[in-house]
Amino acid sequence: MEVTNRYITTKTHIDGAPKESLFELKTEALALSVEPGSNVVIVKNLYVSIDPYQINRMKSQSSSQKSISHAVGIAPGEVIDTYGVAKVVASGNPNFEKDDLVIGFITWGEYSVLKEGTILNKLDTVGFPLTYHVGILGLSGLAAYAGFFEVCKPKKGEKVFVSAASGSVGNMVGQYAKQLGCYVVGCAGTKQKVELLKEKLGFDDAFNYKEETDLQSALKRYFPDGIDIYFDNVGGEMLEAAVDNMNTFGRIAVCGVIAEYTDAGKRAAPDMLNVVYKRIKIQGYLVVDYLNVYEDFISTTSDHLRTGNMQALEDITSGVENIPSAFIGLFRGDNIGKKVVKLADE
Ligand code: NAP
Repeated sequence: MEVTNRYITTKTHIDGAPKESLFELKTEALALSVEPGSNVVIVKNLYVSIDPYQINRMKSQSSSQKSISHAVGIAPGEVIDTYGVAKVVASGNPNFEKDDLVIGFITWGEYSVLKEGTILNKLDTVGFPLTYHVGILGLSGLAAYAGFFEVCKPKKGEKVFVSAASGSVGNMVGQYAKQLGCYVVGCAGTKQKVELLKEKLGFDDAFNYKEETDLQSALKRYFPDGIDIYFDNVGGEMLEAAVDNMNTFGRIAVCGVIAEYTDAGKRAAPDMLNVVYKRIKIQGYLVVDYLNVYEDFISTTSDHLRTGNMQALEDITSGVENIPSAFIGLFRGDNIGKKVVKLADE
């Protein structure tokens, strides 16, 4: 059987803010069959993850592209790989059969042809919706769990600040911190997001950073006794303001610096005297460094979701043609929670 596969590529490298005109929807004829023993697996994509780090892969050059295999550059016109959930339609790999539900690195398209070596596993949904496995119980959730518990080493009662707090990673960090008994303040880019953090997700407080003219004094207002842990998703001026407000022996997990991804001229320049004299630990990390805590993460998070102690925050769009706008929306703050694109019915 042959189908028409529609998929997204970039037309050029993207070195500034992403725009729809820089992406292209391509079509190809795809035979849904594989040579036995070829180890190739063809899947029908169901849900794909939309993540900010992909912009660094789309640049003509970025130091990030040399770090790990998942961060390598994406050449214009190439298929774009991404984390997601899919259903097997043909398999030359003995580990997979037609109709298996799988999770791993698929593509921004309707079908994916996955060669040997692609990270792909059978998915046991353990009773949760498929979308949870793309984000909350996927790599975004693990990034939040590992960054908070393993990098920040939090203690009950500590004061925690989270940026991009209504986003995929940020909202989960705030919720984990509340479960532990921390005092948690988040910042986000709209009034609606701020209300949601306080009213639905149980943050102690939240503010709209776009309404603050002086971030350093805003943080002083929300943390009169200082910040013990800053979970950084944005970098830039927010990181500088957080460093100014950190307590002695404070910890900063640098999960991402989205405010710097689309502006090559923007760099955080934190006051390093504060870092030295307050003995602040600032650590960057990648989720792939923490696969060893995956089982703990799944069991802890599943329990919290089942008991209703944690809420799933998802933002789902449908259709392959809408992947570029979903992606661009991350940099405009359009999403609330984990951004996922649905490609086909389950
Ligand atoms: P997300 O927070 O769901 O979406 C991005 C959000 O960032 C937007 O909704 C927007 O919310 C905010 N934002 C966009 N541009 C901004 C700017 N210039 N200044 C401040 N905020 C801005 O995305 P995510 O997947 O959870 O990722 C969050 C961060 O974690 C990113 O930096 C990402 O690269 C990083 N990350 C790292 C790892 C790792 O392994 N280290 C893994 C996953 C994600 P507002 O309305 O609040 O502006």
